[in-house]
Amino acid sequence: MGKEVVIIGGGIVGLSSAYYLHKSGHQVTVIDKADIRSGASFVNAGYITPSHIIPLASPGMIAKGLKWMFNSSSPFYMKPRWDTDFFKWSWNFHKSSTHKKVNLAIPVIKDINILSKTLYEELRTSEDLGSFQLAKKGLLMLYKTDKAGEKEMEVADKAKFLGLEVNSLNYKDLKELEPDVEIDAKGAIHYVCDAHTTPTEIMPKLLDYLKSVGVKIMTNQEVIKIKRSNHRIVSVSTKSNTYEADEVVMAAGSWSGNLAKLLDIPISLQAGKGYAINVAKPTGIRLPAVLMEAKAAVTPMKEYTRFAGTMEFSGINNIIRKERVAAIGRAARDYYPEIRIDSHDLSNAKSGLRPVSPDGLPYIGRTKKYDNFTFATGHAMMGWSLGPATGKLVSEILNKENLSMDIAPFSPDRRF
Ligand SMILES: Cc1cc2nc3c(=O)[nH]c(=O)nc-3n(C[C@H](O)[C@H](O)[C@H](O)COP(=O)(O)OP(=O)(O)OC[C@H]3O[C@@H](n4cnc5c(N)ncnc54)[C@H](O)[C@@H]3O)c2cc1C
Repeated sequence: MGKEVVIIGGGIVGLSSAYYLHKSGHQVTVIDKADIRSGASFVNAGYITPSHIIPLASPGMIAKGLKWMFNSSSPFYMKPRWDTDFFKWSWNFHKSSTHKKVNLAIPVIKDINILSKTLYEELRTSEDLGSFQLAKKGLLMLYKTDKAGEKEMEVADKAKFLGLEVNSLNYKDLKELEPDVEIDAKGAIHYVCDAHTTPTEIMPKLLDYLKSVGVKIMTNQEVIKIKRSNHRIVSVSTKSNTYEADEVVMAAGSWSGNLAKLLDIPISLQAGKGYAINVAKPTGIRLPAVLMEAKAAVTPMKEYTRFAGTMEFSGINNIIRKERVAAIGRAARDYYPEIRIDSHDLSNAKSGLRPVSPDGLPYIGRTKKYDNFTFATGHAMMGWSLGPATGKLVSEILNKENLSMDIAPFSPDRRF
């Protein structure tokens, strides 16, 4: 007999958890404060990212953050503000930005990414969701300067050492892969190991599948109270309903830190806002790319090319800063000189909040404090990629099964 499991949050992490928990026989309810049609899990660049082995918190990032702090159109922006959680998070970020910690994180990030890529492939072959785009063309890191190329080559060497397939391309090689669009770049590192998808295709399909098999999806209901007794969670309440649960999963993305406060669990988490612009007219772009100096992302999705990017730490809000959207538009033109993103597409830009932990690792697992409560959040720039692996791990934790990988580095109780 399965357990009653309540999942807070219906982004890719919550829905993936629901998928694997339902498959293993539990009665699952997903509660979301919105309508599950927008937010980070819809606006992301759709990359499946074994290549992203270096966490955001790495040597040199604090210096860059300080340099860019007062420039609100820079790719990495911290809005100066008085917020003690943000101060603590920044200090934890600083403590995590060492070579030693980054080197420990690299193989773990690779392992969970590879696990998730395999699960995306299984998901497609299972046909539970019908067919969906899972393009295995890899990811280009386009660079204009030797400095950026050399820096990425160091990452590529680490990736190759871990067994990932990576190639270095000069301009001629690049043009062979991208014959239909003019490119202004010196060359690229091609992470052949990566793949890409269309989030706005997968999210509704996953939601429809879950509904069809009896998972309860409660939308427009904000969890405002979590009742506990001794070391257990008893129920979760919204304004209008109370849901009793044998198990509760926290998959509330950037909001998870504030919700965890209701349970006196201090997890360090900040929202990292990013933007996406969809261009429906043909661009000729065949491969996804990161525009290295501009730190923008480009993905040829199913019905449009998506230009995305920027990391803005300005708290939890959906305010669209036009100067940041415009910077993505300029980056597109700088690397693909024929491409002009028109004002209509720019004005339809959407934002999403990445749940960013200080050390670049997600929080997946139980806390010492409660016996029936599991965290599944904090995936930052890799939450789309890591959704299925996280869902699978959550189901293994609840089922007390052997875990697909060691999750000790993801402990929500870890200190920085
Ligand atoms: C521009 C951009 C590009 C990105 N590109 C990539 C990429 O290429 N590859 C990649 O792997 N990742 C990428 N990411 C990151 C990725 O999108 C996120 O890490 C991921 O979507 C987080 O998923 P989630 O389910 O944890 O959170 P979310 O998608 O934010 O879902 C959390 C849900 O919880 C709900 N919720 C919050 N509070 C409550 C409450 N109190 N009660 C009920 N419900 C609540 C919210 O409404 C929300 O629906 C990108 C992000 C952005 C913004």
